[in-house]
Amino acid sequence: MNIKSIPNLVCADESGSIVEEQHLLMLCRQGRGFALPRPDDLIPLPLSSDLFLLPGRKALGLDPETGKIQAVEALAVAGFASPGHTLSGTAAYLPEPDAPRLPLYAYGAVGYKHGRFWISAQLVDKDQRQTFTGISQSEITRKAHELLTRYPRNRLVRHLAGCALNSCCPAARNLALGRFEAPLPTARSCNSRCIGCISFQPPDSGFKSTQHRISFTPRAEEIVQVMEIHCSRAKKPILSFGQGCEGEPLTRSDLICEAVSMVRTRISQATININTNASMPDMVSRLAGCGINSVRVSLNSADPDLYHAYYRPQNYRFEDVSSFIFEAKGNGLFVSLNLLFFPGVTDTESQLDLLGELIEKSRINYIQMRNLNLDPDIYLQLVTGMDLGPQTGLKNFMKRIKKQCPWVEFGYFNPYLYPG
Ligand code: SF4
Repeated sequence: MNIKSIPNLVCADESGSIVEEQHLLMLCRQGRGFALPRPDDLIPLPLSSDLFLLPGRKALGLDPETGKIQAVEALAVAGFASPGHTLSGTAAYLPEPDAPRLPLYAYGAVGYKHGRFWISAQLVDKDQRQTFTGISQSEITRKAHELLTRYPRNRLVRHLAGCALNSCCPAARNLALGRFEAPLPTARSCNSRCIGCISFQPPDSGFKSTQHRISFTPRAEEIVQVMEIHCSRAKKPILSFGQGCEGEPLTRSDLICEAVSMVRTRISQATININTNASMPDMVSRLAGCGINSVRVSLNSADPDLYHAYYRPQNYRFEDVSSFIFEAKGNGLFVSLNLLFFPGVTDTESQLDLLGELIEKSRINYIQMRNLNLDPDIYLQLVTGMDLGPQTGLKNFMKRIKKQCPWVEFGYFNPYLYPG
């Protein structure tokens, strides 16, 4: 490896000023270890990405002269890559004993060289649905208010317009703008207890949920109206149940089937998707029968122990998730994985073997390479004592799966499925 191509370490002082440490190289955390980033794993920090200061954590760099890892008396800095990018390395830092838990984001390794920031990540999807460059907030505000004026009695329109106006939710903004994928939240409860749940966190979890869970159950007519609004305006409409602001949509399967059945024939061009924890395989045939044509299954691992440790399922097991996937394929649905990727865990030989086997046997169509948004030390605690085996790296991970399952495609978002 030509270490001359490796960016320098960046860190931050208490006031938040980010500085370059010119005598130390950036490092990546790879699972439990640290390593120099692979040069071909580094990209310029993409537009719309964020840089975070990591409280109570000293930055770690490598001294190219001695080859030794060195902690600096400054805060570590991490990168939150913009949508469409998957992290291949986590930020390297030394936590103080009383370091506070990090909020529910993904913390990418970053460095500085040639006058710019670099991040250990890869672009996996060029789709622009979560990019709003060139679209003014006033345009989004005007469009959201238009929906409120035209559909004053529709509570779901009110909820989603509020999300577009107040929490800048990209899915709600796209509904207001009449483009790409529109959200259809329905569920207030969930039968998982994901450690990194963004819509519900128990008071003693040490995390704040980043989304407010929907506070009512929409009626079928309200859902149908939102579906028709979006399909009357979006070129390739995608309609998705299972959003960040709700629980598990399968707990509202009856309502979803009622709504979709009411409108499916009038919106035949739409891709109707359900983002789900796939806990109820016995619901698949009904969902397929009413007109759902795509499912996205949330998964951190095909290893039941690691799955159970993260999702903490209440009344189902990993085997139900696997059955759901096979049922969905058996009913002709397009099946995506919402793979919660964590460098140094997901891309290890043991995890790759299990995941490859599941994809190969079930013929899953698509893998959305998402970043696991969780304090890295907490996730690594879940794999304590597990023999993960060597790490393959993000690129090799994807190459290996593609070699084993040539039909599978990778991306970041739910694809539009042209009507058959
Ligand atoms: S499945 Fe979704 S709503 Fe349920 S606990 Fe997990 S993240 Fe939260």
